[in-house]
Amino acid sequence: MKQKIKQAIDCRRCRDKKYVFINQKGKVQVEACTCFECKVCEGSRRIFEETSEGISKIRECECNGLIKRISLFNQAGIPGKFVHEDFSSFSMDPPQHRTQKNAFLSSKNFIDDYVDRKGQYSQGLIYMGAPGLGKTHLVVSVIKELVMQHGVECKFVDFFELLRDIRHGYGEDISEKDFIDPYVGVKVLVIDELAKGRNTDWELTILDHFISTRYNDDDKVTLVTTNFSDKLDSSVALSSRNNKQSISNAYSRFTIEEKVGARIYSRLMEMCKKVNLEGTDYRRTQS
Ligand SMILES: [Zn+2]
Ligand SMILES: [Zn+2]
Repeated sequence: MKQKIKQAIDCRRCRDKKYVFINQKGKVQVEACTCFECKVCEGSRRIFEETSEGISKIRECECNGLIKRISLFNQAGIPGKFVHEDFSSFSMDPPQHRTQKNAFLSSKNFIDDYVDRKGQYSQGLIYMGAPGLGKTHLVVSVIKELVMQHGVECKFVDFFELLRDIRHGYGEDISEKDFIDPYVGVKVLVIDELAKGRNTDWELTILDHFISTRYNDDDKVTLVTTNFSDKLDSSVALSSRNNKQSISNAYSRFTIEEKVGARIYSRLMEMCKKVNLEGTDYRRTQS
């Protein structure tokens, strides 16, 4: 019991993490909590030292690590609606389907593996399954943890939005490269909602550039979410016969390979481990 009292939380705002996530201008941002103060450097983030030879030196204070992670995180571009999403808020009680627990564990294992290998030759993840099963929730939880606990550079891209920005950029004389470069070079990239939309030849050319560049780099890892699966679920096909809503859902009629083409698909499968998510809702309509 005494142990418990010792571990009581001092700051209820950040639960002693010293930082908080906020939704600012449509993106998740991090700010240092008001309780974050460093008694060593008193906020200067620098420490003045004298060597044994009497030479004065300035070194960075350890507390600057958090400041750097905050600035790294604030460039990740996670949509503001995911401000509260993390592993602790991923509900599996009761799980909709055993695949949700597997997806949760795969996400956790991915982080451990990435950190162990220091980002070299790590395989990413591709979360596949119908909307509403927590794919983006999990992938956001992964990057929040990678940046804030391990200082890894991560970026989140909604591919559909990026294409729109590139189209607008043509009118303002901003090149495709200016939009794409920040994403292709990042250590860990999340591509959310891959294959959403029409997937015209132009769109697939840009996607191919993304995937090929990252495919050829051993220290780049890609995490993908998509509403499409690698094969059509027979139970979905069955229920869609009796359900007009399902028929209108492209993800129950096309595979991911059909949406993105064989070349992109095969590279994705090499770069990423499959994480299939299924919901109980389809099974319910069956019985
Ligand atoms: Zn605090
Ligand atoms: Zn300090």
